[in-house]
Amino acid sequence: MHIGVLGGGQLGRMMALAGYPLGLKFRFLESVQDAPVDDLADRVTARYDDEKVLARFAEGLDIITYEFENVPASSAQFLAKSHAFFPPPDVLDVAQDRLTQKTFFKALAIPTAPFAAVDTRADLDAAIRQLGLPAILKTRRSGYDGKGQALARTARDVDRAWESLGSSPLILEGFVPFERELSLVAARSREGETTFYPLVENHHRDGILRLTLAPAPHLSPELQAQAENCARRIFDSFNYVGILTIELFQYQGRLLVNEMATRVHNSGHWTIEGSETSQFENHLRAGLGLPLGLSHALHPSAMLNLIGSSPDPQKVLAIPGAHLHLYGKSAAPGRKLGHITLVEKNPARLNERIQQVQALL
Ligand code: AMP
Repeated sequence: MHIGVLGGGQLGRMMALAGYPLGLKFRFLESVQDAPVDDLADRVTARYDDEKVLARFAEGLDIITYEFENVPASSAQFLAKSHAFFPPPDVLDVAQDRLTQKTFFKALAIPTAPFAAVDTRADLDAAIRQLGLPAILKTRRSGYDGKGQALARTARDVDRAWESLGSSPLILEGFVPFERELSLVAARSREGETTFYPLVENHHRDGILRLTLAPAPHLSPELQAQAENCARRIFDSFNYVGILTIELFQYQGRLLVNEMATRVHNSGHWTIEGSETSQFENHLRAGLGLPLGLSHALHPSAMLNLIGSSPDPQKVLAIPGAHLHLYGKSAAPGRKLGHITLVEKNPARLNERIQQVQALL
């Protein structure tokens, strides 16, 4: 089977690495010159929105998927006319716009932070009167890793937020003083089979994921069930195929959905060593209509991102249970260059090793 992937970043690289043992072949479409999938698979360098390029790219492929969320929805629709394309293109329209996404969650009775649409300064003032402060102003489209958003605690912050973001369509969200951030990675196959990884706990700094603890400490079956219910509702409304990730806030014992990513996710990297089947393999199995693999955690694990620079492999690999993943990218501030996963049965020892890794970063 020959798999086409839009995007050639680290997520695509790890997808290919998971697919090779299954005898799969890969072709990537990537717009930038140097990409983590280089030297690993057949790749086409071109824009994502040229139908001639897309048609040539798709020739001979069996199924097509993507590994970044800003795939033009029209390109997905175009490819879906001739090929099995997953996750379904319709879901992109919803996922790519924070307002459409939150409105969709509301229609499915999936709890979120309170929100309001903001197109004008008058809308913003009305939204602040409605939701109160603090609140977070976000661009509806193209935000990631905390970009395109501003937290407003005071009236002056509101002016500043409007100055920096007011030229784009926006959404205002009530600030959730959450206890912690969690995420759920879930899979649904072409045959309708589903599986859910355990909820994980995510720690961010400067809007970038730094550490994932899997499973989330003190995870109750009720919390897991709440998250799975949200994922099921999304799966059912799109006849979804592939991996879906839901980012959540835990607040007063409840879960509020912050956003969904219709792809494999950074907070699921621990599954490569920490679960029976990785998120990447399950994404491929889902798209191919193969039985999904078991998704429980084998042991507690921790995933630490390598941001901006990466430590000496000699020192990392001297830590027992440490697995080093490097994406083949050149170093730049704020850039995700790789990650380290630690797998360790004993939670106290896992904590010690997390600290050992952190000392190297
Ligand atoms: P996002 O780009 O929506 O994933 O937001 C990035 C980060 O900002 C999240 O991981 C949270 O830490 C924080 N954040 C986003 N929305 C809210 C909110 N409504 N209340 C509190 N924190 C938020």
